[in-house]
Amino acid sequence: MIRGGMQDWPLRVHTILDHAANVHGRQEIVTRSVEGPIHRITYAEVSRRARQVTAALRRLGVQQGDRIATLAWNTWRHVEIWYGIAGAGAIYHTLNPRLTDEQIAYIMNDADDRMLFTDLTFVPQLERLRDSCIGKRQIIVLTDRAHMPQTGLDLLCYEDLIAGEDPETPWMEVAESAPVGLCYTSGTTGAPKGVLYTHRSNVLHSLTVQAAGVLGFNALTSVLPIVPMFHANAWSIAFSAPMAGAKLVMPGARMDGAGLCDLLDQEGVTFSAGVPTVWIEIINEMRRRGWKPDRLERVVIGGSACPEWMISTLEHEFGVEVMHAWGMTEMSPVGSAGIIKPEVAQLDEAGRLQLKLKQGMAIYGVEMRIADDEGRSLPQDGKASGRLMVRGPAVVGEYFKGAGGQVLDEQGWFDTGDLATIDELGYMQITDRTKDVIKSGGEWISSVELENIASGHPEVVEAAAIAIPDEKWAERPMVLAVLREGSQLQPEELRDYLRPRVARWWLPEQIRFVDALPHTATGKLDKKVLRQLYGGVMAQ
Ligand code: ADP
Repeated sequence: MIRGGMQDWPLRVHTILDHAANVHGRQEIVTRSVEGPIHRITYAEVSRRARQVTAALRRLGVQQGDRIATLAWNTWRHVEIWYGIAGAGAIYHTLNPRLTDEQIAYIMNDADDRMLFTDLTFVPQLERLRDSCIGKRQIIVLTDRAHMPQTGLDLLCYEDLIAGEDPETPWMEVAESAPVGLCYTSGTTGAPKGVLYTHRSNVLHSLTVQAAGVLGFNALTSVLPIVPMFHANAWSIAFSAPMAGAKLVMPGARMDGAGLCDLLDQEGVTFSAGVPTVWIEIINEMRRRGWKPDRLERVVIGGSACPEWMISTLEHEFGVEVMHAWGMTEMSPVGSAGIIKPEVAQLDEAGRLQLKLKQGMAIYGVEMRIADDEGRSLPQDGKASGRLMVRGPAVVGEYFKGAGGQVLDEQGWFDTGDLATIDELGYMQITDRTKDVIKSGGEWISSVELENIASGHPEVVEAAAIAIPDEKWAERPMVLAVLREGSQLQPEELRDYLRPRVARWWLPEQIRFVDALPHTATGKLDKKVLRQLYGGVMAQ
């Protein structure tokens, strides 16, 4: 057999930071620090400090494959430790602080984390977790000596820890197939399960995601990831921004609309990314101020379905282009994005808006198909809805420690748990999650579609559709909606709005207006809670 003639250059995560330091060394990471002030640092400096982290971890006895937990906001220090941990051959394990204490304890124990890096904000939470999971684990607080908190916990100060270390410490030479990151699914579908990313999967995924057709980063882009690093790899941004030499703007602990708007404006942010709920806050804030952050051009919205009003408000009221994307922790996480094809570019405003509501096309490195319950492929005609199956180099092959057993079918397809259509052009649209679909009289009602349509009403800010029991039809839809401030809308008026827009049997049996809807730790509608609250309501 003839051999290829090219170099064997392992795709390691820390090569991304090396590249940023060598080629874009003066580019900045700007953070609203947890301590308060705005902090600025360059990729060149971050690279040197990440190598100090690698050295410190070695000194503390960290071995290849050890899990190192992080319970932290988006900051330059969090970026440094990801790369420093990777460079030590260990595995960064992001913990989501919005989970309950019990869930965090379960996840830390399951992951068998060796130590934990954390922000000042979370020290009280760790005090509560001392007995259930901290035990003998070393905690390192991401701050300097002056800000170290008073507590009964045995803490190390991050700046002291790395201060004396060599900023030219070499990275460990691990194989590209070695594990480097661990993130647990948020448990909306059963006990949380760990997804163990490899150096190779992270590098390939970031290469694809930063490309022109998807996030489209370059050295002039200023990126503010609102999506936290503890939520599905921050959609790759801590890798894809330095890869492209883009400026990173990190919000730290200030995740409110006003704080984010200030930072977007002051740092000339051109691109941002987050789940729909944070955009509700930002839109409210922009309306209050009567302006949008000056240079903001494009945002990616995903994690849950982006409602129509949000796309049209951002695009028409504020002139910010919206790209709708879909993915999951198990896919590193980006799977599809609203890439504009020539056929779509020719459409009028209304037609383009309808396409933007779809979750977009598979990005390179993701094979996608829809299948029936027996695994047979369904037609891609925009009508047939089936199980969304995916395959690719950054898609999970098995969960951490084999949890849940075999997760791929014989051809290597992973069942996402989502139901979707794919149209002739390749645009995929999520119709539901398998467990959220409303089964009325043997027919399926898409809860996501009902939510989309209900939130199209100008007075509705957010809507949730769930199944409630019904003697005749087994299940019937109920819609819960949050209204705009001061709205006088009546449930009957919302039903009248829905009537011409949905099939007759899709009309919600019950409509209730609520002050707020519950969300999961990753910002999705928490239908588990809604079903607990309203599942006992009889349709009639
Ligand atoms: P978990 O699966 O633990 O809830 P993830 O953050 O991995 O958490 O969420 C993945 C799920 O989120 C997808 O399977 C899908 O149901 C939903 N999702 C993500 N993006 C979108 C989107 N743009 N539209 C609709 N649903 C989405």
